[in-house]
Amino acid sequence: MKAAAFRYHRADSLAEAGEMLTSLDNARLLSGGQSLMAMMNLRYVIVDHLIDLNPVSELAGISHHDDHFQVGAMTRQRCFLDDDAVAAHSPIFREALGYVGHLQTRNRGTVGGSLAHMDPAAELLGLAALTDADITLSGPNGSRQVAIAEFPQAYMTPDIKVDEILTAVRFNRWPAGHGWDFREFAQRHGDFAVVGVGCLLTLDAAGAIDRAAVVLIGVADGPLRLPAVEAMLLGMLPNADLFRAAGEAARHPEITGDALVTADYRRQLAAVMVRRSLTNAHQRAVQAMNQEHHHV
Ligand SMILES: Cc1cc2nc3c(=O)[nH]c(=O)nc-3n(C[C@H](O)[C@H](O)[C@H](O)COP(=O)(O)OP(=O)(O)OC[C@H]3O[C@@H](n4cnc5c(N)ncnc54)[C@H](O)[C@@H]3O)c2cc1C
Repeated sequence: MKAAAFRYHRADSLAEAGEMLTSLDNARLLSGGQSLMAMMNLRYVIVDHLIDLNPVSELAGISHHDDHFQVGAMTRQRCFLDDDAVAAHSPIFREALGYVGHLQTRNRGTVGGSLAHMDPAAELLGLAALTDADITLSGPNGSRQVAIAEFPQAYMTPDIKVDEILTAVRFNRWPAGHGWDFREFAQRHGDFAVVGVGCLLTLDAAGAIDRAAVVLIGVADGPLRLPAVEAMLLGMLPNADLFRAAGEAARHPEITGDALVTADYRRQLAAVMVRRSLTNAHQRAVQAMNQEHHHV
């Protein structure tokens, strides 16, 4: 099918895009087009005006700071994956971004487009949830920040008003030496995950877990942080029993089924994948600690 007729507008700056969005009726922003064009061609989305953000170079790029890094909305997913500084201080990003679609879709697809589209299985939302990210939105009255926990409102419905543009996302950095793991179960490589798991943890000098973050993607409307699982890990010396119990605790009641799989099947996958993911994150944290001792 072809998209219904629409008028194309090229925005050359954020200010211009904002003005267009406020003045035009039934308008949509175009970023990488990897989700929007498909929805328009299926006539699942019918717009009168399309506002192209691609020329807005001020919205692209990554800036690094001591405790966080900020990624502009128009940063291509591929540039984010390829950023060596991100991979050095936050290696989970490279591991997770490799699961975002295919090389071809990552070349065009943007960080802001993925967050705004809010697919339940979007890896970028999972990474944002894991790092307690903040999202910046620009509207006619200036800009505002939304914590990732408040961002999802309903299925594929983020907290973005019709006259707002997502401009950046700020991810918090974890301290050097943390453990990390991101993994997915999908029917074919590049498909949206049936279940995805991400986790981050740090160990104290005695080897006990002193900080943990665990998230599931693809199982609910938005990314599902697992605070109960995180709490049971804190202060514990890791072993196979602990991670098995953590996996069992990941069978969250909010995990849903769909046309493809049942909720129980997803819960079983979550239990196994959380256990494996934590085990690997722990091994990596131990390796990082050993390397630091070696350097001293
Ligand atoms: C074959 C295939 C496989 C894929 N697999 C995955 C996958 O495994 N994981 C995954 O996460 N994604 C996957 N995707 C989707 C892909 O990552 C898209 O790039 C992403 O969902 C949307 O980003 P985009 O830049 O292409 O946005 P677009 O398609 O241009 O826009 C998506 C939506 O967001 C809105 N929007 C865009 N930018 C902004 C902004 N700055 N502010 C406010 N609203 C905005 C648009 O109006 C539109 O409603 C896949 C896509 C394809 C085609």
